[in-house]
Amino acid sequence: MSSLNEAKKIVELRRNLAIQKTQDIRSKLLENEDFKNAENKLGGLDFERSRREVYKLDTSEIDKQISQAILERDNALKKLGYSVDILQPEFACKICEDTGINNYKVCSCVEKERIKLEFEKYPELKSVPKSLDDIDFTIYDQQSKMFEKCAKYLKRNFVSEDRLSSIILFGATGVGKTYLAKTALLECMLSGQDVMFVNAIRLNKMFLEYHLAALENKKQILQKANSCDALVIDDLGVEPMLNNVTIPYLYELIIERASKKTIITTNLSQRDLENRYGQRIFSRLMDKERSAVIKLQGKDLRLSLSK
Ligand SMILES: [Zn+2]
Repeated sequence: MSSLNEAKKIVELRRNLAIQKTQDIRSKLLENEDFKNAENKLGGLDFERSRREVYKLDTSEIDKQISQAILERDNALKKLGYSVDILQPEFACKICEDTGINNYKVCSCVEKERIKLEFEKYPELKSVPKSLDDIDFTIYDQQSKMFEKCAKYLKRNFVSEDRLSSIILFGATGVGKTYLAKTALLECMLSGQDVMFVNAIRLNKMFLEYHLAALENKKQILQKANSCDALVIDDLGVEPMLNNVTIPYLYELIIERASKKTIITTNLSQRDLENRYGQRIFSRLMDKERSAVIKLQGKDLRLSLSK
């Protein structure tokens, strides 16, 4: 289930619980004679009022009686030590009353829940700025220009657009590839896109799990990786090579995501990448129509771009 659907479910459950709680309180209150009588009276009067409305009859007299019955009921409540609010469900979101919908759109409370769920799934995204624009480039000293250029590129081509299907960030450990990829992904997530962050070792385990799973269980294992709007595969090349698993499923994933955004970070050189994963994957990743290659190397950023 996507985090958005999970979030919708949570809000729906919240609403049901609030309503249930009010119903439970009401049942308890109905054990009191005064309250019960007032409620019964109100019920009858409400029914009569609706009937009169349907037949377009005068309701002024009945309205007076309703006001009187409400007063009696409220007095009964007061005697029991409750305020009238106790009869109304206490919804957590005052905007949508926990329906999850505001003005025909997803309410902000659902969005808040979705982001909370995403952070639970990808706690590593908590440690980066919320936007590529918020990165403090000065801390990267001499590399700041290169870093800034790369951040701007990711903003344009990964966060904002769907033009390229994959961006490969090459570079040694510590140049900030993962940091940039995470920040770009978090920005996508906060803008409402369905995202996934996965380390290559974990992804490889998922491939193995998929390989070994019974047919009916296969689909869900890679569903998110295949279908999310934006995926980061971190540190490709550190995973152990599993025969008949790593390469074929990686290739499948790349094909599956041909029209979706993916960032791959790697410490490997282009040559190592080709040697390790073979021509098929390599040429797909290097396909200038679909991919961009960014090399973050020391002070020198080389962008090898298709457009
Ligand atoms: Zn709401």
